[in-house]
Formats: sequence, C-alpha cells, structure tokens
Amino acid sequence: SPPSPRPSELQLHDVFIAVKTTQAFHHSRLELLLNTWVSRTREQTFIFTDSPDEVLQERLGSHLVVTNCSAEHSHPALSCKMAAEFDAFLASGLRWFCHVDDDNYLNPRALLKLLKTFPQTRDVYVGRPSLNRPIHASEPQPHNRTRLVQFWFATGGAGFCINRKLALKMAPWASGSHFMDTSALIRLPDDCTVGYIVECKLGGHLQSCPLFHSHLETLQLLEAAQLPEQARCLCWQDGSPTPPVRRELLLLSDRTAGARWSHGSLGTHDPFPTRA
Ligand code: UDP
Ligand code: MN
Repeated sequence: SPPSPRPSELQLHDVFIAVKTTQAFHHSRLELLLNTWVSRTREQTFIFTDSPDEVLQERLGSHLVVTNCSAEHSHPALSCKMAAEFDAFLASGLRWFCHVDDDNYLNPRALLKLLKTFPQTRDVYVGRPSLNRPIHASEPQPHNRTRLVQFWFATGGAGFCINRKLALKMAPWASGSHFMDTSALIRLPDDCTVGYIVECKLGGHLQSCPLFHSHLETLQLLEAAQLPEQARCLCWQDGSPTPPVRRELLLLSDRTAGARWSHGSLGTHDPFPTRA
C-alpha cells in the first residue's frame, strides 16, 4: 500500500485559543490582552463573553463570541461559556483546544513548543492541577443512590489544552447542552467538569505540566529568565505584574512579535501600567 501521508508539523494556526471573559472585564482586562499576546495570535484566538460590545465587535469581528450565557459568577453561567468554547472548537476543525481566562498572559511560542511534544496518536489533556490531590464528587446513580468519584482537573485559571482526538470522545458529555448537564450532575464548576469527563467518563488522565501557572502561585518566585519557556507564563488578578516581570514580558513580547496585526503597538505604550 502507498505510504500514508505524514501529518504535517503542528503550527500555531492549528491551535484554537478560547478566552473566557465577562462584561465587567471588557475594558479592565481584555484591553491588555488585545494589546499584547492576543494581537499576535489573532487568527486563532476567540473571546467568549456574555454581553454585546460594539467597540470589541468592531475590533474583533467574528473572533468575539457573544454567548447567551448569563453574566454572573455561578457554576451554570461559567459552564455555559465553557460549553460555547468547546462547541466552537469542535466546529473549527482545528487540532488543539486551549482555554485561558482573561487575566492570563499566554506565550504562544512556548505553548506551541509544548503541544508539539505530544504524539498525535494519544489523547491529551494537559494543564496544571490546582490541588495536590484529586477532587471528590458524588455522581448520582439510579434509585436515589450516589457514587463517590475522584479525579484530577486542570485549573481553568492556569490554562489547559485538549487535543481533538480526546475532544471528540468527550462530545457525548461536553457538546451542546450536555456540558451544562454534566456540570449540574456533579455540582462542580466548568474546569472540574472537564476533568470529570476526561478521567471518570473516558478513563483518561490529566497530564500535569509546570509550564502553566495560576494565580494561586507566587509568580515572583519564578525567575524572570525562565519566563520565555513558560506556556502560560503569567496570571494577574486585578493588580498588575511586578516591575521586573513587566520588563521581562515586554522583552518577551517584542521577541515573539513575528506576525503581529497590531492595533495596540507594544513599542508605543506600556501594556502593564503600574497601579497608583
Ligand atoms: N468570569 C465570568 N463571569 C463572571 C466572573 C468571572 O465569566 O461573572 C470569568 C472571568 O472573566 C475570568 C474567569 O471567569 O476569565 C475567572 O474570573 P476571576 O479571574 O475574576 O476569578 P478567579 O480567577 O479568582 O476565579
Ligand atoms: Mn483570575
């Protein structure tokens, strides 16, 4: 038989990047992202929000996804957005699904380098666990019984990725309205629900990766010199990164500036204004 064609080497445009946001953060958080890393990953980045916004729409076009999810910090509202992200990924046909929050700085080059290390034949769910042990949930069973299950999950706030092979297997629990049903069943938030589907429904495993970081970590401890290698290298809450980290990020941003489409140019203003 003729040799089967080798799958082409993974490129950034094979990766679907979903950013979760909400009306309240359109200005205070998204602006920063659009002026930094999103400006260099524009083709594959989609912003999922809960409220229409003319200014954002103008800037992002079809890359702004206004869901029908409610703008509240409840499990159903958050799961509704994750479901929308997942469905948009399935429809995109791309090879990887990566989720981040709107207070995440993503390093696309390092992310691509990481994703390239996984063989195409495997199911992959990679991210950073927020706990140092599996989480427990009770799974309703017939006849009013419950079953205690435990599983690992990647914290949404540190970013995580799933390859298409695995995502397709997750669809019965994660596509359309199923994701919200699954989340309601175990009464846990969106990121836990992803872990539950992968580990409890499919027998898969979270691959823990130290290149993803969450706000639960003290990032000041991370050497500035290490930043270029980190896939999801920084997360800030409503404050801003410390001055040494800011400087490093600016350098990093410039170094990876390859194909920028640029509205906000990094050279002309500081994307990390210091809080007074
Ligand atoms: N978020 C949301 N709806 C809300 C509040 C937050 O979609 O009502 C999103 C927010 O944009 C962010 C993520 O949920 O992407 C986590 O929110 P935040 O960083 O404020 O909280 P934490 O990281 O402490 O969980
Ligand atoms: Mn956060």
